[in-house]
Amino acid sequence: MKFFSRSGKAKRNRRVVVIGIDGTPHSFLKKHIDAGDFPHYKRILDSGELHRMDSVQPCISSVAWSTFMTGKGPAGHRIFGFIDRKPNPFQIFLPNAIHMGAKTIWGMLSEMDRRVAVINVPVTSPPQPVNGILIGGFLSVDVLKCAYPQEFGAELKSWNYRIDADANLGRKDKDAFFEDLNVTLDRRWEAARRIYEKEPWDFFQLHVMETDRINHFLWEQYENEDPLYHSRFVDFYKKVDALLGEFYDRSRDDTEFIILSDHGFCTVKKEVYVNQWLEDEGYLKLKGDEPKNVMDMAEGTKAYSLIPGRIFLNLAGREENGSVQPGADAEAVKVELTEALLNMTDPDDGSKIIEQVVRREDLYEGPYTEEAADLIAIPYDGYDLKANVRQPSITFKGDLVGMHTFWDASLFIKDRQISAQDFSILDLAPTIFKMMEIEPPEKFDGNSLI
Ligand SMILES: [Zn+2]
Repeated sequence: MKFFSRSGKAKRNRRVVVIGIDGTPHSFLKKHIDAGDFPHYKRILDSGELHRMDSVQPCISSVAWSTFMTGKGPAGHRIFGFIDRKPNPFQIFLPNAIHMGAKTIWGMLSEMDRRVAVINVPVTSPPQPVNGILIGGFLSVDVLKCAYPQEFGAELKSWNYRIDADANLGRKDKDAFFEDLNVTLDRRWEAARRIYEKEPWDFFQLHVMETDRINHFLWEQYENEDPLYHSRFVDFYKKVDALLGEFYDRSRDDTEFIILSDHGFCTVKKEVYVNQWLEDEGYLKLKGDEPKNVMDMAEGTKAYSLIPGRIFLNLAGREENGSVQPGADAEAVKVELTEALLNMTDPDDGSKIIEQVVRREDLYEGPYTEEAADLIAIPYDGYDLKANVRQPSITFKGDLVGMHTFWDASLFIKDRQISAQDFSILDLAPTIFKMMEIEPPEKFDGNSLI
């Protein structure tokens, strides 16, 4: 009887704190810790190592955090991108917590009578019932409805809690964007502090989304040491560093403590409009003069794309107006497309854009494999694969100056040795259950790191 002491009372499992700093690269943390810019993270490293970690393909926040929270890959949790599609009738939609096809860490712990407090993790909106408190992530729209239990929304409102920073400001007014990011982080930090103190949790997770937001809009200015924004960018991360220090101190004696990010970041060289390329190459046909997206696909389409680089054959019998016959025809299109994608070049300087094209069956394994894209194109760092239709050219330098990288996520675990050389965000759920000394109720795709 693993969970009971000899006196017959429930054994108290070790408590776990997880702080997610979305999209904060390992290489960036290391550089600034070494330079003395992040004194809190530096002292945190007295009790463990900062590890580089792999993300998941495609390395999109919603896919990576779904992988974290379920311990399963995309074919196990059913979240394949920021946007997904239903083939027949054809529909595109933003997947959220309702579409999650596997149990989450907090769902499983709740079923086992452990208390959880989960704040702002992607793909947790609309908030699903837990044994404790859950505040939904960035797809929530109304503070009053963003939490479980729903009454907790009124409390959040009274604390002036904010769900997300205003990304429009990142485009229009960078000074206002900094202000907004700082206020959003302050309010989230304050809510997290209160919940940490007041709630009787066994598992506590705080997600900082603002780091991903600032990276998307200012990574290039940071990397180029822009005189206006470089130091403000680093100052924002100094604030995040102080937050990490505060929660680390609270965890000092008896609590497991994890900091992780879900992917790295690099400067966008160009956005690449894969659907425009597919149209130019004759694979995609569009209806009308002003098609908006792949919902306006016309008859005769052989393939279309969803972000980032996920390419679906317009397969007869599967898609609403499928035109490629399964079997030999489909195979031929896949072979032809793979070769053409690998040969795609940047019209401005001739650089190759796509490093790898992977078939879903070679990348994923699980009950939802059939719902994945047929081909997943993985670009060289700097080429951000988009799905916009009817663009004036295949590549363009747009407003988003930072993009995700697969190989540069980060992980710290207090007082635990990690001996594995290669690991990914898939391995965190089994690690957390091992730390809590709880037998997981189902099999994970990853492996415990401790
Ligand atoms: Zn992310």
